[in-house]
Amino acid sequence: MGFNFQDIRKDFPILDQRVNKHPWVYFDNAATAQRPKVVLEKIREFSVITNANIHRGTHDHAIRTTEAYENARDIVKEFLHAEAREEIIFTHGTTESINLVARSFCEKFLTTGDEIIVTEMEHHANIVPWQMACERHQATLKVLPFSDKGELRMELLETLITKRTKIIAVAHVSNTLGTVNPIEEIIQIAHSHNIPVLIDGAQSVPHASIDVQKLDCDFYAFSGHKIYGPTGIGILYGKRSLLEVMPPFLGGGEMIDQVTFKKTTYNELPHKFEAGTPHYVGAIALGSAIQYVQNIGLDKIAAYEHQLLNYATNQMKALGDLQIFGESPAKTGVICFKLDQIHPFDLGTLLDQLGIAVRTGRLCADPVMDHYQVTAMTRASFAFYNSEEEIDLFIKALQRIRSMF
Ligand code: PMP
Repeated sequence: MGFNFQDIRKDFPILDQRVNKHPWVYFDNAATAQRPKVVLEKIREFSVITNANIHRGTHDHAIRTTEAYENARDIVKEFLHAEAREEIIFTHGTTESINLVARSFCEKFLTTGDEIIVTEMEHHANIVPWQMACERHQATLKVLPFSDKGELRMELLETLITKRTKIIAVAHVSNTLGTVNPIEEIIQIAHSHNIPVLIDGAQSVPHASIDVQKLDCDFYAFSGHKIYGPTGIGILYGKRSLLEVMPPFLGGGEMIDQVTFKKTTYNELPHKFEAGTPHYVGAIALGSAIQYVQNIGLDKIAAYEHQLLNYATNQMKALGDLQIFGESPAKTGVICFKLDQIHPFDLGTLLDQLGIAVRTGRLCADPVMDHYQVTAMTRASFAFYNSEEEIDLFIKALQRIRSMF
């Protein structure tokens, strides 16, 4: 499989426990991933040994935290292959990153009668901020639909684009269907009309290496906690030419150059978009998480997870009367499904009784539920620390639950 599973598993001691008297099987990785020891140690180090606010002090601890924070920015810059460190903004997560763009970009560029395009498979975090922007600016939100197979209906994209289209926002990977969207093609089409593109990378960064320069995307957003880092920290990559002309998102300390009651001038990038005390411990630990996955190799991670996906998909299909939502060949380790007529909440609760953690509900993607006319789904999502043995336990659990109904 290209990397040592036993060694990797030792890095995640949290997985080594029992839930409801069964070995814990954690298949809720698309909601949040577990953190390796190096990340937890970094959080501890910058809580117990070193702590001071960043960018403000001249004393030893303030210098150490500031250096570690800015070093984390460099790690993210290299990770995303961005051109400049000024293009990397620390936020609280994907949600805040998208809100930042929807607020600030739209304030600058969106006017009455303009249009924004999103897709039918977006997470609410990539729908609602744009709806709010449309309401503020009397603009229209247009939606690119997906097929029942779970693939974007690319043939319709050009028909949605008009002279009034100001931005296209699309998930790199769907959190429900697992589909890896053809973002290269979307960006190319959008740019041929001079339309910038925001990519929601929440579900892609843990599974694929990203090169924002090659992609030529204008914005790329992701969350630390989905890539084995802490919660409460995220990234917005933005092209410098755009970030420079966009107004600040939040006002406060650090984002200013000079403040007088007459006029305030703003700091340079990236600080213009980082008002107040940031989650610097989270940023530093995110740097460690990124280095951790880089050391394993994202290509190896993707190949192994794909193996898990295929293994699980084949076994689930063999159960019969099990519907999988999203069957694109370009897919990450996310399987949303329905077993017989068992309600996802019952299924999730019974799986938990057998030690298996999955996600149930509407998965912050109401339009996807509406597409398939279901009220909820069950989702199993895999990470590189999961195994085929765990999938076997999951399949056995599904068989057992089915026999109870
Ligand atoms: N977009 C996608 C595709 C997601 O899966 C998620 C998290 N489920 C988000 C956005 C929001 O991420 P966060 O809650 O970390 O801000």
